[in-house]
Amino acid sequence: MTSHVFLLVFAAALAASVAVRLWLAMRQAGFVRAHRETVPGAFASRIGIAAHRKAADYTVAKQRLSMLHVVVDAALLLAMTLGGGLASIVGWTETVDVGPLWRDVAMFAIAGVIYGAVNLPFSWWHTFRIEERFGFNRMTMALWLSDLAKGLAVAIALGLPLLVLVLWLMRAAGTYWWLWAWGAWMAFQLLVLVLYPTVIAPLFNKFTPMENSAARERIESLLGRCGFRSAGLFVMDGSRRSGHGNAYFTGFGKAKRIVFFDTLLLRLAPEEVEAVLAHELGHFKLRHVMKRILWSAVLSLAILALLAWLAQAPWFYAGLGIPESMLPIALSRPGVALELFLLVLPVFTFMLEPLSSLYSRRHEFEADAFATRHASAAALTAALVKLYEDNAATLTPDPLHSAFYDSHPPAAVRIARIEALVAREPMPLAA
Ligand SMILES: [Zn+2]
Repeated sequence: MTSHVFLLVFAAALAASVAVRLWLAMRQAGFVRAHRETVPGAFASRIGIAAHRKAADYTVAKQRLSMLHVVVDAALLLAMTLGGGLASIVGWTETVDVGPLWRDVAMFAIAGVIYGAVNLPFSWWHTFRIEERFGFNRMTMALWLSDLAKGLAVAIALGLPLLVLVLWLMRAAGTYWWLWAWGAWMAFQLLVLVLYPTVIAPLFNKFTPMENSAARERIESLLGRCGFRSAGLFVMDGSRRSGHGNAYFTGFGKAKRIVFFDTLLLRLAPEEVEAVLAHELGHFKLRHVMKRILWSAVLSLAILALLAWLAQAPWFYAGLGIPESMLPIALSRPGVALELFLLVLPVFTFMLEPLSSLYSRRHEFEADAFATRHASAAALTAALVKLYEDNAATLTPDPLHSAFYDSHPPAAVRIARIEALVAREPMPLAA
């Protein structure tokens, strides 16, 4: 491989990913707009035309913003690589009077600030323009800024030690540094899994044990039936930030917590809450979470091995905008390879996205089937319809856009499957 060939490969992959992203976004907006005036037959009795139009307009508004984001992201990546942005940062940090490892840390900090500054306006626009316009936003500017500050503090507290450790391993651990780095990365993931429910999430939200109620009784009986032990049921004040509702599990082993957004509990009837939880339990019982973790472990090992190989190849740097004269510096500072790699990796992994979406949708179908066996299928369908309506999720996605990106199957497909399951099997215990 020469640097010129690699440059061409990179440019072609970037152009292709930008073109596919924009094309899919245009298809999605066009498809949704074309179906704006008619609620699909299966939902006609459950969702009104006003809610359907709102979902269409919300989807189109989000697609427009994402198209702008795609273009700006690509321009920034070009500026950082072929435009010489990262080379300038490397050159400048080379003059700073600290050890070589800390020069790499400074380089990451500068690149991080640049990426943060470019992405921040998008996040602001999403919350205060789009979410606000459709009545979902409950955040004030002060809360948004304090979230930003806390997020940054958490990123530094957790990310900086990991970065320093990996940079140190790249220098000190020899040829197989990537195996050590992989071990560090796995340990880090485990640490976050422990810290997230107990330390990180409570920085942003209040978690209160769920009150005794009809919903709680149903949930406890469901957990008993499925033989599931947890460290508690919590309600999160999601309504502080947004009108969207959700439920999730965090932690692992016996320390698993079940968290409901207050917005979800307000909206769903007790048997619907039970059905939603049965779906989430399905993900756990069918080992979807474990499978995801294993996949990510295998992938990150492969990715680190690839990085170790590229870090020694002069064409990798030269093809991504590091001038010949700076190659000795780049080759002596492992952080340069790591930073370049992290910047360009998404361009190449983008084409794998449909596979990951497909895998995830298969798990959703399996969790739905689990839920229909342990709770009421009719309640699950009713809950899904309410959630689609409340989140203004479109009922008429472009099939290709959906196949490429969606981690959850389109509403119509999902509900049709649930109804087909019920038609085939006798009613479940909990009906
Ligand atoms: Zn699910």
